[in-house]
Parts: sequence; structure tokens; C-alpha cells
Amino acid sequence: MIECNFCKKEIHPQIKGSHEKNYGDPEGNIKIALMVCPLCNNALLGVARTKAACSIYITKISKYIRLWPQPNEYKSDLIPKTIRNSLDEAKRCIDGSAYTACAAMSGRVLEGICRFFGTKGGYLGPGIEELKERGVIDSKLFEWSKEIHKHRNIAAHASEEEIAKEDAIDLYYFSEAVCNYVFVISERFNQFISRKKADKANATDAKSRLPDPRH
Ligand SMILES: [Zn+2]
Repeated sequence: MIECNFCKKEIHPQIKGSHEKNYGDPEGNIKIALMVCPLCNNALLGVARTKAACSIYITKISKYIRLWPQPNEYKSDLIPKTIRNSLDEAKRCIDGSAYTACAAMSGRVLEGICRFFGTKGGYLGPGIEELKERGVIDSKLFEWSKEIHKHRNIAAHASEEEIAKEDAIDLYYFSEAVCNYVFVISERFNQFISRKKADKANATDAKSRLPDPRH
């Protein structure tokens, strides 16, 4: 399945050609496919994850993410799957003009982050505070998270108040930014520092193996 942006619906595409490769993920491969929408005959380019199922002859394939035209935003695998699913759903709410639902789903993204870090209690407000105290998020992300929380509460309770389109889009991007900071950029930074430490250790090691000029 892929979402055709011309028909604005999920379709079963005709695959014209594809290429599959493993990029180091033991659970499966990445498949890129050129396809055609059977309803409007427009070309689409998509990427999907494939996963070996119980038989080597059966491969499970995820829904295709559209790369062209109007690419769906690709979310890093470093974001835990349940949180990534909530983010994707928040984005689909925007695409479907369901702005109040988008605010609720953006709140669910934050709840997922709280659960991932095992914050105490089940409430989002204290959970966000704890993430800040523990240094998982900084003061700017804390402000954004508080707004998501506030609007999630408006969305979750039946009232006259509705979430405006612009606000829903902003809340989605705030929740995505929190995920990228917490799971993606932080991990990149950790790997960066590990590389620097390894480089320094290798340089020291190489230096110690040089012959002593005094001998
Ligand atoms: Zn179509």
C-alpha cells in the first residue's frame, strides 16, 4: 500500500521496478520501488521496510512511504516504533484535516517518550517536568512540550474549543522536534563523542609504539 497524493487515498500500486538491500538492520531490508497508481496512472516512488516472516518464501512488507512526488517525511529508526507510529498518525491527521485529532496524537507522542524513559506516575504534566529535571529535554523543548500538553488536553475533552489548522501543524512539528532531539540527534552526538575518544586512544596508542629516539 502507498498513499497516492493525486487520489488522496491509499492504493495498491502496480510495481514497475524495485531494488532491495540490507543496510545493517538484522530484522529486514529496505526496498525502493517505482510504481504506478492504478486509479490515476501517476508515477510514484516509495520506500518500504521488508521483514522475513516465518517462511523464507514469505516476506512481510511495511506500507510504502512516498519519496516522490510530495514526499512523506521519513522518520528515523532510532525513534521507537510505537512513538514513530504516533508521529505518523499525527501527520495523517493533518493530511486528513483532522486538526483536533492531530493535537491529541502529538500528546500521545509525548506520552510515548515519558513511557520510554519510565517517568513516575501516569500523567503527562509531571512526566514532562521529570524529563526536564533528568536532562532528557532542555528548557526550550520543555516549553514546546508544555504547549503540546495544554493543547492535547483541549483536544481530549469534549468542549466548544477546537484546534486551528496552523496550531495543529505547529504542534506536530514540535513533537517531531522533541523526538529528533531525544532519540536521533542525542544518539548522533553520543556516537560522535565515542569516535573522538576512539581516535584519541588510537593516536596515543600509535605514539606509544613509536621507537624511543633516546635508545
Ligand atoms: Zn492515484
